[in-house]
Amino acid sequence: MDCLFCKIVAGEIPSKKVYEDDQVLAFYDIAPEAPVHFLVIPKEHIPSPAAITEENSKVVAHIFAVIAQLSKELHLEQGYRVVTNCGQDAGQSVGHLHFHVLAGRSLAWPPG
Ligand code: 5GP
Ligand code: ZN
Repeated sequence: MDCLFCKIVAGEIPSKKVYEDDQVLAFYDIAPEAPVHFLVIPKEHIPSPAAITEENSKVVAHIFAVIAQLSKELHLEQGYRVVTNCGQDAGQSVGHLHFHVLAGRSLAWPPG
């Protein structure tokens, strides 16, 4: 499958890893939008948030537990934002489910 993030999971494209287990991979974004900006993805190919179902959503709960754990390890006590873009209007540019974690600066609300 021609999927950038599946290739990162497979190690065919290098990434700066933050965390990995049998279900998920977290790695730093190549074009950071904040002092801390990493992505957390399921290893399973799920194309977008719109493709989450009752059958495949267990990994989403795990991803949020991993993010909570990483927020402690990376000392993000001041706060962080978890973002997932879905589809064209939201600016999703990679068709493999991913959660951005942004931290290290004050983040404007609402997002653009
Ligand atoms: P989206 O725009 O789909 O919400 O987020 C995709 C993210 O993937 C972007 O923030 C982009 O910078 C990041 N990205 C794209 N290609 C690569 C890559 O090859 N390596 C890494 N680490 N991040 C990437
Ligand atoms: Zn994929």
